[in-house]
Amino acid sequence: MSAELKRLLQDSLGERAKFDQPMSVHTTWGVGGPAWCVCQVASQEEAALVIKATRQAGLPWMPLGRGSNLLVSDAGYPGVMLRLAGELASLRRQGDCLWAGGGAHLPAAVKFAARLGLAGLEWAAGIPGTVGGAVATNAGALDSDMSRLTRGITLLLAEGETARLEGAQLPAGYRQRSLPRESLVLAALLALQEDRPEAVGLRCDQALARRRRSQPTGAASAGSVFKNPPGDYAGRLIEAAGCKGLTVGGAQVSAKHANFIVNRGGATARDVLALMREVRQRVLKSSGVELEPEVEVVGHA
Ligand SMILES: Cc1cc2nc3c(=O)[nH]c(=O)nc-3n(C[C@H](O)[C@H](O)[C@H](O)COP(=O)(O)OP(=O)(O)OC[C@H]3O[C@@H](n4cnc5c(N)ncnc54)[C@H](O)[C@@H]3O)c2cc1C
Repeated sequence: MSAELKRLLQDSLGERAKFDQPMSVHTTWGVGGPAWCVCQVASQEEAALVIKATRQAGLPWMPLGRGSNLLVSDAGYPGVMLRLAGELASLRRQGDCLWAGGGAHLPAAVKFAARLGLAGLEWAAGIPGTVGGAVATNAGALDSDMSRLTRGITLLLAEGETARLEGAQLPAGYRQRSLPRESLVLAALLALQEDRPEAVGLRCDQALARRRRSQPTGAASAGSVFKNPPGDYAGRLIEAAGCKGLTVGGAQVSAKHANFIVNRGGATARDVLALMREVRQRVLKSSGVELEPEVEVVGHA
């Protein structure tokens, strides 16, 4: 079955279907074994074709953005990672809204909005994901998040049909959004407000500078590893538990921000998972709080 699928993907996507791809090159953590296939699709039709064929072959599939919230296991992913490109990664103005393809790079969307003098997305400066990934994870910072901006979403559902949902139709919580199972965010319409481009640009610069001061922005990471528990900060609890600098193999709790685990070079998923377990145990012991991962673990540990 998978030989047939491989042929079909090669025939329809050519070089855009890459097999046996190390996920360490497709994730910001730089960690993870091979995915059976990483596909780049440039249209809704291509996405639907890949999903249908993959399901028929009995393999799993999942959307892949920039891999900035993923920890892929060392054993890899036994299916198809689907990445959006071309029109599905483009940006355009629609009145006071920003229309963004699900594969659009979030930093590019932030800059595009600033150039147009559209305010509201400045908090996302420095988040290295895609618009689709940010919608799916309800990414947020500085007391804002994607759900507050999202006026509508175009989804491709598992059976191949599309659905246009109003923002309010999708329940959202802290770093979570209830998308239908096995769905792909093809595009999002973000509601912004007109402002002077210089004022928007300045707020983006301020958000970036703030990140650079408090986060290890130059190191390979996946951002915050654990969610903030109600009324507290995961970083504060991890630091109070004495975990800053704690190391397992190539993975280390950042000395700059305790809720970041950085890859010092050569880290494996096993190193990161072992370090996450150790941090959770120490925090539980010192404060009684059970931290919940914010990063998504993919594949068999
Ligand atoms: C340095 C750094 C700083 C960060 N700072 C923040 C921050 O301030 N706030 C914050 O919330 N996050 C932050 N993150 C985490 C991460 O960037 C966000 O969660 C981001 O939105 C993930 O986007 P992605 O495209 O990389 O998604 P991926 O990591 O590739 O995927 C994450 C999930 O989204 C799904 N997904 C991806 N694309 C789509 C799509 N088109 N349709 C449906 N599902 C999709 C994937 O299947 C997966 O389940 C940071 C990460 C780093 C490395």
